[in-house]
Amino acid sequence: MTSTETTRAPATRQTWQRAAVRDLMERTEEFRTAQQVHDLLRKEGAKVGLATVYRALQSMAEADEVDVLRTPEGENAYRSCSRGHHHHLVCRSCGYSIEIHPEAMEQWARDIAEEHGFTDTGHELEIFGLCRNCSG
Ligand SMILES: [Zn+2]
Ligand SMILES: [Zn+2]
Repeated sequence: MTSTETTRAPATRQTWQRAAVRDLMERTEEFRTAQQVHDLLRKEGAKVGLATVYRALQSMAEADEVDVLRTPEGENAYRSCSRGHHHHLVCRSCGYSIEIHPEAMEQWARDIAEEHGFTDTGHELEIFGLCRNCSG
């Protein structure tokens, strides 16, 4: 019986912690690394472990609940986005991001794939730079 208790307790805590991560992501416009999400949650008084934040963000990314991209520093950053295909302009200083829908590029990607006989293609494109606030 003791073993059941010890496995159940962390699971309950993890559910609560995941809910806290999800809640924060839904309120965040910027791309955030797991470390930044962890810092923000601690600042709000949530006692969430960094490893749990990592796992929560990973599983949310796998479930397509958040978008994930690799920052110029090589870290994964996450953001709660609209569903559907889109790309991002990302500020490499503050993480501010907007979703973009570059139709001309989408068409080009389809054309170039077709030209070379590729099917079932996908692509990734993120544009990194400095936002208006950060370049001022
Ligand atoms: Zn910025
Ligand atoms: Zn695209």
